[in-house]
Amino acid sequence: FSRLKKGLSRSSSKIGEGITGIFTKRKLDDEALEELEDLLISADLGVSTAGKLTANLARTRFNKDVSDEEVREALAADVTGILEPVAQPLTPDPDKRPHVVLVVGVNGSGKTTTIGKMAQLNREAGRSVVLAAGDTFRAAAIEQLKVWGERTGCEVVSGKQGADAAGLAYEALERAKDSNADLLFIDTAGRLHNKSDLMAELQKIQRVLAKLDPEAPHDVLLVLDATTGQNAVQQVGTFRELVDVTGLVVTKLDGSARGGVLVALAEQYGLPVHAVGVGESAEDLRPFEAESFARNLMG
Ligand code: GDP
Repeated sequence: FSRLKKGLSRSSSKIGEGITGIFTKRKLDDEALEELEDLLISADLGVSTAGKLTANLARTRFNKDVSDEEVREALAADVTGILEPVAQPLTPDPDKRPHVVLVVGVNGSGKTTTIGKMAQLNREAGRSVVLAAGDTFRAAAIEQLKVWGERTGCEVVSGKQGADAAGLAYEALERAKDSNADLLFIDTAGRLHNKSDLMAELQKIQRVLAKLDPEAPHDVLLVLDATTGQNAVQQVGTFRELVDVTGLVVTKLDGSARGGVLVALAEQYGLPVHAVGVGESAEDLRPFEAESFARNLMG
């Protein structure tokens, strides 16, 4: 877990040192609880989760002497309980050939990189993978996906910048079927400022995929950038209006003190979190494990 630990170090020192600051030789009184609640809110756990966690602590320990370690332990246990139901890896169904994963999210959230990392992990597991460069809006995204394709030995189906993304997705599914691939990842554009265009595009992609396989896409993965904090939480609501999101990947937990956003996401939506990103290279996509994440988060 050393990568996760390192990745979460900013979140964990924020919360961990904050708890020590509040609870060094101190009673768990109203003032301490209020400070703790503020700390958890500022660490992006969300207002309602912060309220629940502090209330839980007060139930058993109000007006008692508590140590920072005891508070950390109690919070880590509660947070583990919140995260456990959502910590679910993305497991491709071997009977679906291919298992189709549509990847959505705003520009810059880490979609293309996450697809590259997932391609690598699945190749290592012996699966054959096809990638569709469906972010036809940005030439750089197409190039970036081709680089990942070369690196991981996956076929990349791409068109020119501005090409029709749905047509490309259709072609990619045909190719993946022809080659009996295990998995197809479809990248998409993330122009959230133009929501109706984006919705039309995502719906069209889903419509054409369903012509070849009525169950496709089997997963719709929303990629969120942890550094955007509560904005990431709002994005889930927005994307769910556009498309039937089945799971999340949260990126950029390294470089961010906002790892607590995972707890807010789990509480608010209960969507599976398939993996977390703690850096830019392939091995920086980590499985999301409730207990180790909760412990690392609490410092
Ligand atoms: P897209 O527009 O959603 O496809 O986003 P990209 O995949 O192009 O990622 C945007 C930038 O974020 C790139 O520079 C990536 O290398 C970087 N990135 C993606 N995931 C992570 C992560 O987990 N940690 C860090 N530090 N950078 C990341």
